[in-house]
Amino acid sequence: MSGFSDSISESDETVLSDKTGGTVGTVIRSHAGGYLVYQPELDINLLCQARGRLKKEGVSIVTGDRVTLDDVDPEKGKGVITSCLERENLLSRPLLANVDQVIIVQAIHQPDWNALVCDRYLVHFQLEVRSSLPVLCFNKSDLASEDDKKTLRSIYEPLGYLVTIVSAITGEGMDGLANLLVSKATVFAGPSGVGKSTLLNRLDPELRLKIGVMENDFGVGRHTTTSSELYRISKQQLKGLGVDEESIAWIADTPGFGLSEFKHPEPLDLVWQFPDLAKFAVDCKYSDCTHLVEQGCNVLANLEQIDPTRFDNYSIMVKESQSEKS
Ligand code: GDP
Ligand code: ZN
Repeated sequence: MSGFSDSISESDETVLSDKTGGTVGTVIRSHAGGYLVYQPELDINLLCQARGRLKKEGVSIVTGDRVTLDDVDPEKGKGVITSCLERENLLSRPLLANVDQVIIVQAIHQPDWNALVCDRYLVHFQLEVRSSLPVLCFNKSDLASEDDKKTLRSIYEPLGYLVTIVSAITGEGMDGLANLLVSKATVFAGPSGVGKSTLLNRLDPELRLKIGVMENDFGVGRHTTTSSELYRISKQQLKGLGVDEESIAWIADTPGFGLSEFKHPEPLDLVWQFPDLAKFAVDCKYSDCTHLVEQGCNVLANLEQIDPTRFDNYSIMVKESQSEKS
């Protein structure tokens, strides 16, 4: 967990003069005009400018960054950023630091679930956020049969992915989804039309309102921002979704991805992003094997144990990577 604490374990005095040289907060929105920083112990958002020195040193601060603060004035809701702490990770699209987990949303039907798109999203976010495996969230369960759901689970759960099946319309599975968000900064990603907006709205109908508040803080419209934003789901809303502790959850939305925007690793490294192939690739006797055509390849020798669609997707992506890197 990177930086979102809900506990008031220290007195304000300790917090305001801790050993990092100041209060620590998390940037929840960045803009040319300044930063909105959430300070967990005071439980407030502060409008902050970065010290001139930071700009001179070329320190870039993005949403999700943990920063030390000085001159914190809770009454005026203001503070000054004095330094940026080391990042755990940095998502490139949208630009966002210290992501705890990515939830990949797809529809089961309307549009029909697409295995290749699913694997593209998995590989992309595994490369971007190496500290945790993406969670797969299949939406529109109200349109799906029990067999559909079983099939999806049977493909991805054995690979180690957490699978959650929900309906943003009927509310099925929403409690389980809400519980996954507790004390984390979660990024929701997925193709358009899968119901991501409906899902976020179901998690907290006030998210839209909150976006409005932030616009007013800066006196600028949302569309002028170049960076991402972290939105907080209200405790009340989380409670309503069956989260029983006093909890906090932050979410960020991502734009849909065009084919060219997915990250590819080097062709020979792709196999490590497919756990079902990787377990055979570790024992492959060739050090420069694509595991596609090579005689005596250990992956090919075990093909009957690999889901053919997953292997096809792997092979499509290796070829894409080869043409991209050549
Ligand atoms: P987004 O592009 O991913 O943000 O998708 P939207 O939230 O705009 O939803 C696309 C369409 O799917 C809309 O017509 C929604 O009403 C519908 N939709 C969203 N969630 C569900 C669901 O759980 N079940 C069904 N049947 N339709 C849904
Ligand atoms: Zn091989």
